[in-house]
Amino acid sequence: MLVNADFHIHSCFSMASSKDMLIKNIAPKASQKGLQLVGTGDALHPGWLDIIEESTTYSGDGIYTTEDVDFVLTTEVEAKHRIHHVIIIPNLEIARELSQKLPSKNKAADGRPKTKLGGAELLELVREYDCLIGPAHAFTPWTGMYKSYDSIYDCYGKKPDFVELGLSADTDMADKVSELKDFPFLTNSDAHSPWPHRLGREFNQMEVEDISFSSIKHAIKHKDIKANYGLVPNLGKYHMTACTKCFKLIDPEIAKENKMKCSCGGTIKKGVDFRISEIADLNEPKHPDFRPKYVHVMPLAELIATVYDKGVTTKTVQRKWQTLIDGFGTEIDVLINASVEDIKKIDSSIVSAIESFRNGTIDVIPGGGGKYGQISFKKEPIRKEITLDNF
Ligand SMILES: [Zn+2]
Ligand SMILES: [Zn+2]
Repeated sequence: MLVNADFHIHSCFSMASSKDMLIKNIAPKASQKGLQLVGTGDALHPGWLDIIEESTTYSGDGIYTTEDVDFVLTTEVEAKHRIHHVIIIPNLEIARELSQKLPSKNKAADGRPKTKLGGAELLELVREYDCLIGPAHAFTPWTGMYKSYDSIYDCYGKKPDFVELGLSADTDMADKVSELKDFPFLTNSDAHSPWPHRLGREFNQMEVEDISFSSIKHAIKHKDIKANYGLVPNLGKYHMTACTKCFKLIDPEIAKENKMKCSCGGTIKKGVDFRISEIADLNEPKHPDFRPKYVHVMPLAELIATVYDKGVTTKTVQRKWQTLIDGFGTEIDVLINASVEDIKKIDSSIVSAIESFRNGTIDVIPGGGGKYGQISFKKEPIRKEITLDNF
């Protein structure tokens, strides 16, 4: 069977995460997004594990179910050099035991625990518990594995199970790094709130025998991912090299010459686009045979917000989003599958935006420095890259 899975989210216990990130809110929203399987996130946090246990029914083999949505235990850990790792855990008992074993001082305080372990030590520890591990948002400049290492093997010592691409990268970018031909890529939302433009904004379509930890493990080990759905990479907040204070996009070479200091006094962070160009050993992407299609998406709620010129979380936008979902089933159906005529019957104002999305003519003001890229239908000047003349 084919399932849509988003393995990386955060609970209400993570820093900067919404207090609404509770199973009872995540499950119905996941369902509306067309996800059958969601990673719990924060599965080393004792309070979150209690909530998972209370709010779900155990379906066996590591799957916790409520409202037709299945959850598997996952967590993100911040390890040595501030590198983030995603871990998929077999069941609650193991999560509790691993939580005890992980050397960390803030396990009860933050849903994303910090540890001094290096990547290799963390890999060894979690493999003792039959977990799967890989780098989270592998190329991002604050906490991505490739910010500190030029090779994934230098971080882990041996081969981890997968690579999470992160919002600012896609398969074409990552497959310019030839060592990644041996890894399945995961595309996950890293959602900190249940809003529809966050939860499931990236997800994986996998071929599994059933929904169980064993089948998920089998699918990842055998690279049985059938499609990666992910943001257009320039919507990601670290796609381009930019200042983290004024968010100006800055030519990476000029940024380096200026020791990563912006003229405004802020710190410049290397974009994922540039970091990949540094570590890439291929000029063109070379996809291994098993690499599935990468389907570029944009959050439907953001398209609606742009069309109606209203905030994405306003009642108007959320109501219009809901009407489209009720009409077609899922966001992917609206964005990709539904006929223009049918969409017109429900919301004629959105039709030209959907058409622009489908034929790739939407302008995106690229993200960088921690600011998401923005969808734009007007031909406004794009945030200009700073050159030597205007730095
Ligand atoms: Zn992270
Ligand atoms: Zn600046």
